[in-house]
Formats: sequence, structure tokens, C-alpha cells
Amino acid sequence: MAGPHHELVFAPLGGAGEIGMNLSLYGLGSEPTRSWIAIDLGVSFAGEELPGIDLIMPDIRFLVEQRRNLAGIVLTHAHEDHFGALIDLWSRLKVPLYATPFTAALLEAKRLSEPGAPEIAVNIVPLGGRIALGPFDIEFVSVAHSIPESNALIIRTPLGAVLHTGDWKLDPTPILGPPTDEQKLRRLGEEGCLALVGDSTNAVRDGRSPSERDVAKTLADLVANAPGRVAVTTFASNVARIRAVADAARAAGREVVVVGRAMDRIAQVARETGYLDDVQDFRSVETYGYLPPDKVVALCTGSQGEARAALARIAQDQHPEVTLARGDRVIFSSRTIPGNEKAVGRVINGLVTQGIEVVTDRTHLVHVSGHPRRAEMADLYGWVKPKIAIPVHGEPLHLAEHAALARAAGVPEVVVCRNGDVVRLKAGTAGIVDELPAGRLYKDGNLLVEADARTVADRRRLGFVGVVSVAVALDDRGGVIADPELELIGIPERNAAGALLAEIASDAVVRTVEQMPRARRRDPDAVKEAVTRAVRSALAENWGKKPLCRVHVLTV
Ligand SMILES: [Zn+2]
Ligand SMILES: [Zn+2]
Repeated sequence: MAGPHHELVFAPLGGAGEIGMNLSLYGLGSEPTRSWIAIDLGVSFAGEELPGIDLIMPDIRFLVEQRRNLAGIVLTHAHEDHFGALIDLWSRLKVPLYATPFTAALLEAKRLSEPGAPEIAVNIVPLGGRIALGPFDIEFVSVAHSIPESNALIIRTPLGAVLHTGDWKLDPTPILGPPTDEQKLRRLGEEGCLALVGDSTNAVRDGRSPSERDVAKTLADLVANAPGRVAVTTFASNVARIRAVADAARAAGREVVVVGRAMDRIAQVARETGYLDDVQDFRSVETYGYLPPDKVVALCTGSQGEARAALARIAQDQHPEVTLARGDRVIFSSRTIPGNEKAVGRVINGLVTQGIEVVTDRTHLVHVSGHPRRAEMADLYGWVKPKIAIPVHGEPLHLAEHAALARAAGVPEVVVCRNGDVVRLKAGTAGIVDELPAGRLYKDGNLLVEADARTVADRRRLGFVGVVSVAVALDDRGGVIADPELELIGIPERNAAGALLAEIASDAVVRTVEQMPRARRRDPDAVKEAVTRAVRSALAENWGKKPLCRVHVLTV
């Protein structure tokens, strides 16, 4: 079985060198009939640098090509960076899909909320379950994280066992679900682990992350001693946090009102899957106005400052049902994801301006990360003792810190790779051996476009410099028939001396055409090129910036 071409490889198509868009492949056998499995299929969220783009997802052209050799997709958990691309990309793959019950239920709820989403058949794996997928034997290992049912995967093959950690932390008191299954991980160490492919998110942070239980205590205090209304915002998928808020409310004799669709959806899925079994019923948003201020806790979406989410609308006093007033308290039980600072700041300032007290994780333990800090990572390496370590789920700095930590923990070989690299998992000769086509897709409206398509670059330039569109009509001898038609969009009206830029551009068009030899004027492309150049430089002289320019030549 172990010929020279018979290899076990790891190949990330997303999530290596970035936080987001996770897609990991494992391949066994020799090319071109190597068997593959994919772990996770997630998205990243686009920032202002990609105007008009909502989501970024991995380019899966390699998987589409290899569809017949792809035994299936396994989801570790239901965070968007791990399963958010499934609905959009599913119809290109349609291979067996595996997930635990909560992840499957959340995927279904999300699918139902998106018109036109394809039906997706999910094979449900019980917690701690084990499946055979092609030549791979995959065992689920429950781990603590910030959403129910996060799983590490032990991927066993004839060439060795790999621990794919997924997103995890060590939390002895996670509030919801089992703590990280230390026994199973220790047993893997005894059995022998070839490689560990692991979460690097918090590899720059020393020590251990606090427990969800500690956060729950802080929340209980903050709700109990609040003088007026309390609103708590958190990541909707953090069901343990929802539960902590519900417990805090109950202890203080308050009702919980859920505000925001994402929160509603998760709360419902959590009820269906038993994760809120002993938690009181939540009240609908319509009841909010009837509850006395000291009898209500509003659980809101919008912890990242999202403009359309509940909290931003409340901060602007534009929410139809939910209002807050001077003396009320808003708790951000969340972390601001890098890039969202301004949006979150706007919401906080809106609230503070209204005299509302805002509590964040800067002053209170109202949030903990779902990812392991360095001492937790060192524990894992001590239990599993892999021969090879591959840091993933991190930006380059996180990967480098994780790599150094793994070396310090005694791992003989550490491979830092990037999306598209193929890493050979063989003790003694581990390393990058090949490359796969990798890239990004953008979700633009309801289309998926390749990241290198011109659209977004054009859009960004338009945002900086505007556009001039010019129509020139020429007769068959190349004479200008009428004044050119110009439209300037996103360009100042007048120059510093008060002259109209539209007229300056128009004059440049006429002058340029008239200066061209008649023979040249019969070539529309030559006219287009000359006019474009003239308009852009005339505007650059008067404005200091060169706009985009589109010229239409009509010959009559
Ligand atoms: Zn996660
Ligand atoms: Zn993640």
C-alpha cells in the first residue's frame, strides 16, 4: 500500500494565512486518483475595501474538477467561517455531507430563510460519533468553543492519524455541552498521532482563556444591579451566552425579549435541539413596550455595529418596538472583530449620547474567546504528541507564533503553509510538495464572481474618481455633427476658478477631434482613444485627479 506515490496530504484552500473562509482538504493515495475529503466550507466577510461585496468564499474549482474523487464534506461546527459557503457552493459539489445535529439544524434553518437555496442532504453524526468516508475513518471529538457542538476530528488512515482540531478551547465549565474531551485526545496520543492541524487564533495570547461560567457570573451581577432596562448584545450563535443571559434575567425577575432575526433563528434551533431545555420561554418583541423597565432584558443582534441589526436601530432610536432611555444599560457581551471598530463605535456613541450606560469587555468580563490561548495549546500538544504540526486558522503572525509554540512543545516537524499548498504528512519528510489552484470568490448581489474580475477594482476606482461618459457624433467625412454629449458622475461641478468642468471636458473633446487628420477620424477606435486621453488630462489639469472615461462614437 505504501508505494512511493502513495501519500497522505493536507491542502488548505481557505483559512491558512487568514481568519475566515475555512476549507481544508485531506488526500490519500496517488495522483490522479487520489481520494479526497473536505473539512468545512466557510466564508469571510468583506470590508469597505471591497465595495458592494458581502461575502468572500474559497474558489473551489479544484474540488469541482475532483468531484468524483471527493468522498464527502465534514463540518466541524456552524460558525459562518466554517459552513457559510455551503448554500452558495453546494450545487457545484453535491457530495455526501456530514454534521452533528445542531450544525445540521442551523444549516437547515439558514437554508429555509434564503429564497432559492438548494436542498442539502445532511448525514447526521451523533456527538463523539465515527464515520467511514472513502478510505478515511473519521472520529468526532467534542470540544468547547463559542457555539454548541464544535468538533475536532481524528482522521485515521493507513498512513497515520491526523488530529484536525477545528475551533476549540479548554473550558472546564462551558455552561452548554460537554467540555473538551480530554480522555479521547490523550488516547490518541497513546495510539500515536502523525499530525496535528490546529487553530492558531489566540496563539499570541499567553495563559488560559476564562470560562463561560465566569462570564455568566458577571452578566448575572450586571443584570441584577441594573436600575432600568437592560439590553445585551452578543454573537447570535453563542447559545451558551444566550442561556447565561436568560439565567441572569430569571434570577433578577426579568423577562427575556429576543430582538433580531438571527437571534430568533438561533434561539429556535437551540430549543429544537434541546440546548435551551430548562430555560424559560422568551417573550416576543411585541411585548417589550408593555414590560416595566426593571422587568425586561432585551437580547439583541448587532454586536458588530451592523447598521441594519437591532442594536444599531435602537441606538438611533429607530427601532419600531424597542426603545431605551437615560439610565438604561447596554452590555456588549462580545468582542469587536477587527475592521468593525468604527461601526461599533458609532453604535456606542449613539447610545451614550442618549444617556444610556454602555458596558463592554474593556472594563468587565462580559466576553471570552472561544479559542485556545498558549497554555491550552501547550496542554493539547502534551496530550496528543504529534510528529508534525501544521498551524491553520490564523493570519501569518498567528501561524508563526503557533509554529514556535509547537516547536517549543517538542513537535519534531512544523510546516507553515498557505492556501493552495499541498503538504505531505510523512514523518521525517513532511513539507510542501505541490500546489493546487486556490483563490477567492466574491458574492456580488446574487452572483458569485472571481476575485480577479475587474468589477470590484472598477467600482473602487469609481468611488475615488467618478466617471465621464462622452458621446460624439461624426458624419461620414469625420466632421463633428453636434456638440458632444457629456455626463459627469461623481466629479466636482467647477474648478478652483469657477469654470464648469463639464464645459472644459466638452471643449477638450471638440478640440481633439478637430485636430485629428480626417482619415483618422473615420476610425472610431482611434477617436475613442484620443478623446479618452484628452478628457482625462483636461480634468486632471483642473481637478488633480483622472476620472474613468467611457466614449461612444456614433457615425452617421
Ligand atoms: Zn468557530
Ligand atoms: Zn473559525
